[in-house]
Amino acid sequence: MYAMVCTAPFTLEWQPLHLPPLGPRDVLIHLSQTGICPSDVRVYVGKSSSTKLPKILGHETVGQVVEVGREVVSVKPGQWVVPDGIIKCGCCAACRKARSNKCQRVRYASGAYGQAMIVPETNVYPLHETTPLPAATFTEPLACVLRGERMLRITPGETALIVGCGPIGLLHLQVAKRFGARVLVADLKRDRLDKALSLGADVALDPQRPLREAVLAETDGYGADVAVVAFGSARLVESAAEALAYGGRLNIFAGVHPKDSLSIDPNLIHYNELVITGSADHTPLDYAEALNLIERGLVQVLPLISDVIPLRDLQRGFEIVQAQQGLKVIVEVNPDLVR
Ligand SMILES: [Zn+2]
Ligand SMILES: [Zn+2]
Repeated sequence: MYAMVCTAPFTLEWQPLHLPPLGPRDVLIHLSQTGICPSDVRVYVGKSSSTKLPKILGHETVGQVVEVGREVVSVKPGQWVVPDGIIKCGCCAACRKARSNKCQRVRYASGAYGQAMIVPETNVYPLHETTPLPAATFTEPLACVLRGERMLRITPGETALIVGCGPIGLLHLQVAKRFGARVLVADLKRDRLDKALSLGADVALDPQRPLREAVLAETDGYGADVAVVAFGSARLVESAAEALAYGGRLNIFAGVHPKDSLSIDPNLIHYNELVITGSADHTPLDYAEALNLIERGLVQVLPLISDVIPLRDLQRGFEIVQAQQGLKVIVEVNPDLVR
């Protein structure tokens, strides 16, 4: 077993993979495919201050159980599963307040640009027999999206604005539709807007017009009831806030790097009764619900895949994501491991 290890910024090395011994409640999974997340690319280009190198990156994955510890009861060797490589402690203050996505003693399994991973049984989510493996790799990003969408408390018939139609925005749009919203999408790239329309967006806003003006034109001058900013930009957050209706809710979903500040008139929030929130990461509940949506076909994920590359070409995959050339890039971690 091997892994592509990020040893320093812009440096990936093909190295033998060493995993810890299997504990009684652990599951050894051979990984099949892993999606590239922009957060992996941020580490690769040296723009993440919180991640220590060397490290095996990658966390959007799917694989097959190979071995289980003697106390494991819920999965067996041979089963296809989605592992969650973020291991929560279960007993810190955040975990006990149902915010395990912010676990204060979190541990990380070895990354998913390695050919195998060990996680506790509690972090293993079995797949239905018919679920396509690449679809299952979207469980993690969709879990984050679901968490963010739930915070907006969309009611049927409301208008949702999705700013940014990369893979994450395209997931938000579909979840907002499932919650009953009419969805307006904004992006500068025509091909991304077209993809959003093909996935059910009601209106693609004209990229040439200021966001507020374009939203007002589509809402009888009233504004959007909810907005998600799925592109890391403080300016876009300001524009989205100005496009909200009375009582509008806004989720700052994408991290903003490098650090920046918002300039929003407090009276806009006060008089218009706006709610501005953020969301990050996921809980086990989000994970299970996300996989359920994928397996029931309630969210289309396969059309989001633009490139499939071998693990050895990980650098090229990072470059595609960095340049926003495609949408989701899937890495074949073990090309022989298919079903
Ligand atoms: Zn991710
Ligand atoms: Zn915890």
